[in-house]
Amino acid sequence: MKRSYKKNKSSFSFSKPKDVSKIADSVSIPPVITVKDLSDKTNVPAVKIISELMKNGVLAAINESIDFDTAAIVCDDLGVKCEPLSETEEVVTEQNSSEVNKKNLVARPPVVTIMGHVDHGKTTLLDTIRKAHVVDSESGGITQHISAYQVSLPDPDNKNEKRLITFIDTPGHAAFSALRSHGTLITDIVVLIVAANDGIMPQTIEVIEQCKTNKVPIIVAINKIDLPDADVMKIKKQLSDNGLMPEEWGGDTLVSEISAKSGQGVDDLLNAILVKSEMMDLKADPKQTAFGVVIESHMHKGAGPLALVLIENGTLRKGDAIQIGQTWGKVRILEDYNKMPIDEAGPSCPARIAGLRDIPTFGDHLISYPNEKEAKIASLKYNQNTILKIATAKKLNESDQEAETENKISELNIIIKADVKGSLEAVKKLVSEIDTLELKLKVVGDGIGSVSESDVTLAKATKSYIYAFRVPVLISSEKVAEKEGVSIKKFQVIYEMIDDIKRELTNILPTIYSDEILAKGKVLAMFRNDKKAMVVGAILSEGRAKPAESVRFMAEDGSIVQSSIVSLRREKNQTDEINSGVEFGMSLDPGTAVKEGNTFEVFKKVKIDRKIE
Ligand code: GDP
Repeated sequence: MKRSYKKNKSSFSFSKPKDVSKIADSVSIPPVITVKDLSDKTNVPAVKIISELMKNGVLAAINESIDFDTAAIVCDDLGVKCEPLSETEEVVTEQNSSEVNKKNLVARPPVVTIMGHVDHGKTTLLDTIRKAHVVDSESGGITQHISAYQVSLPDPDNKNEKRLITFIDTPGHAAFSALRSHGTLITDIVVLIVAANDGIMPQTIEVIEQCKTNKVPIIVAINKIDLPDADVMKIKKQLSDNGLMPEEWGGDTLVSEISAKSGQGVDDLLNAILVKSEMMDLKADPKQTAFGVVIESHMHKGAGPLALVLIENGTLRKGDAIQIGQTWGKVRILEDYNKMPIDEAGPSCPARIAGLRDIPTFGDHLISYPNEKEAKIASLKYNQNTILKIATAKKLNESDQEAETENKISELNIIIKADVKGSLEAVKKLVSEIDTLELKLKVVGDGIGSVSESDVTLAKATKSYIYAFRVPVLISSEKVAEKEGVSIKKFQVIYEMIDDIKRELTNILPTIYSDEILAKGKVLAMFRNDKKAMVVGAILSEGRAKPAESVRFMAEDGSIVQSSIVSLRREKNQTDEINSGVEFGMSLDPGTAVKEGNTFEVFKKVKIDRKIE
């Protein structure tokens, strides 16, 4: 700690003092940024940034890199608004700016995600493109689902040349995450699919909004044009109404009319993607150290932790030392998406890698390092940053809790760990479908792979239960969990796990009471009304009344007064019960504002049995 502080001091002693009155209001930040670059962008002295990091338990020297989330927390503390860089080109040129040499920039394939409303044909289109353009591997063709693949097409400008397009094939809402993860935009272009016989639906609008926010261009594919009830004009009109004016109508949205089922128009769509990417002038520097993002990961019986990564910049080679989130290793196996061995993977290339110590998380960044030692140190630093994030999550959680006590909303926090992406998605889907009534069910964290110590630390900070679905719990994690009082629940059957979550929710359901009416009656006379007692004469029209029961008086103007029965008298004698039809004296809480002629109800509160189903 001492050493790096001294080093920092000397590093920034020769830089020009900053005019702190000009601290930036807001900054755009790439996925990874050096302290120096963050200082330059925000105009906050590097020493201040370093001390903010230190306050949060992160040690970083001036030339060291921090990730987007950490930078965002520091910016927040410094009062600087911070958002991820939106232009992919900028991400490339700004990332590790000291290393990027503009001369090295070369065109790279576009990365495309197909999105749209359910049943509009996303899966069919991805299958059609894959079958028509992906060369089957020697191992017998692609039958399994793959989360990313590349297609090779003739260049529209030069038929002798080939052009590549990378498709990200992630199901459902994972596609949204694929669009943005840790401040990076994985997707260059979104193909928005709209069924010609259906039209723009809620999820279509969601995608349009998402792309607008993230400044990702949309190409529209109007699908199912083979159907007799297809109405292409209606869809184009709806698109215009939602800010996507087709090119042929004077707008700038490329629209292709296709049948994903028959393949009609699909080549035009692919050409439109190439045209758009040409216009976007997408570039990367293959000479740089590799930088990528995890789009799928799981434990492979033979190869150990496996990850499918999309290389965003630089080139990943077999034997490279790498860090991905909190894990690290050496690229022992490098394959293309088709499971064919390759020596290197360049920008926009999906690559399967083995050689990591642990299973990385979807959306984590891959960074290559000169040697394994540095990769390991980087993963340890990442862990420190995770602790910082946990501290922030805790802060947020505390303020959430304050607000919630006021609103009397109870919350169940959970962390889900699962064996593979498919089961994690399935669990999350079922969790999201639980009808929680007035409770809040929050998935504080999720991931693939064994329950790690940092999962336990996060659970402790956010008062969460850890649900481990078909994954082991590291012995060290068990120990920490026991010490910290964190509960780890292990399941092999998905519905048993969902039932347990429902049981936990039921346990924290606020108790609700309803009134059971025991008797009804009328006040006939006022006997006594002073500081010590309030006694009325009354008659019951139905039911029976006993001392200590609650009673509610209703006046003619609709006002209601509540009290409780102190004692009951029948003629001169105290009694324990009054039945209907008899006149009696009723002593109430002193000061109860009752009048002759008020009707009343004797009632008791009964607990309502409730259950989260
Ligand atoms: P997703 O939910 O968006 O992935 O939609 P799917 O690809 O699963 O398609 C939903 C249904 O529409 C399936 O029954 C497909 O066979 C059908 N479908 C998809 N594309 C076309 C098309 O171009 N024409 C016709 N007639 N049916 C299609």
